[in-house]
Amino acid sequence: MLKAAVDLNSIRDNFLFLRKKTQSRIMAVVKADAYGHGLKEVSISLASAGAETFGVGTVREGLLLRNCLDRVHIYSLLGPMEEEDYQIIRSRRIIPFIHSWEQLKALSEFSRTCTEKIPVALKLETGMNRLGFRGSDLEMLLELWNNCQGLELDMLASHLALTDDPMKQDKVKKQLEIFMKYCRAFANKGLEFKKSIANSAALIDCPETHLDMVRPGIALYGDNPVRSSSLRSKGQGLVQAMHITAPVLAVHELKAGEGVSYGLCFTAPKDMRIAVIGCGYAHNYSRMLSNRGWMFYQGERLPVLGRVCMQLTVLDATCVPGISAGEKVHVLGGSGENSISAGDTARWWGTVAYEVFCLLGRNPREYIRRG
Ligand SMILES: *Cc1c(COP(=O)(O)O)cnc(C)c1O
Repeated sequence: MLKAAVDLNSIRDNFLFLRKKTQSRIMAVVKADAYGHGLKEVSISLASAGAETFGVGTVREGLLLRNCLDRVHIYSLLGPMEEEDYQIIRSRRIIPFIHSWEQLKALSEFSRTCTEKIPVALKLETGMNRLGFRGSDLEMLLELWNNCQGLELDMLASHLALTDDPMKQDKVKKQLEIFMKYCRAFANKGLEFKKSIANSAALIDCPETHLDMVRPGIALYGDNPVRSSSLRSKGQGLVQAMHITAPVLAVHELKAGEGVSYGLCFTAPKDMRIAVIGCGYAHNYSRMLSNRGWMFYQGERLPVLGRVCMQLTVLDATCVPGISAGEKVHVLGGSGENSISAGDTARWWGTVAYEVFCLLGRNPREYIRRG
């Protein structure tokens, strides 16, 4: 019922938009099935626009990507988690992010059975406090590195906890400072490597973080990562690639005083026209959008009335007399100023554009390729 149309030209245009903003290499982040847009289609399209380096999540995703792109560089941002991942890293030339002693030890041991060195990216913890080697690990890491004869240091990487808020730029600076300090410690041992810390927001609003490689994800899919800051204009020009439509199943009147949907938690204040849409939480259109979400129909935004159901949602269609069963509404996208961005839906839902893309993108997809 729900259909996700992914405009591959928008994704290519977004890549070219970002390309103009930096001299650094770009790792196109396509983890989690390209944020719900489709790993294979998105990556092939990006490669044809000039992308040479990709970031997937799991090693398994790297294997899927390698099966469609032979020549590109593939990094696994999560690194090995399963026994078979080590073999895949070697045979499919995937560069793993390594964040733990366990991964490092296992990969180093595995590398003894290999004739060529395995390149790795070491993930360093600089303030997000999620994954990565910490400052206190550094001395031992440098010492141990000499024994990792089968490994080659390709890159040092870290991840920023925030970037889109200029009031918090000092936190970004702090992470960058710590990262550079750690990088110097490695360089002082005579090691050579790339340095990478920037995500989409940092690519757009923080040039000093670009270093050797930037790692945009969300911006490729058209969300403006600095939308809610005073720097929003710097991300204008990104175009959302995902458009989701759902069918109108019925249109009927709701009399003043009548309620609608489970719990009757919306009561009509006046006579209304309502449209019942084939879209619900079974399609990952969250029940959190009950009485809060909006959909798009012919230039207008129609509010969700009452509870979002499993496969149905009711809209107020009073302002669009022409709407009829068999037509479609946009759950995401549309055209003009009332079109619905993932950021809009995220706000109503109480989440972020990332989750909106990942979840709604799980519906059956079709691809738009122009030219
Ligand atoms: C997801 C991810 C990115 C991309 O972040 P965006 O905010 O989507 O640009 C970059 N680096 C790492 C390690 C990630 O996990």
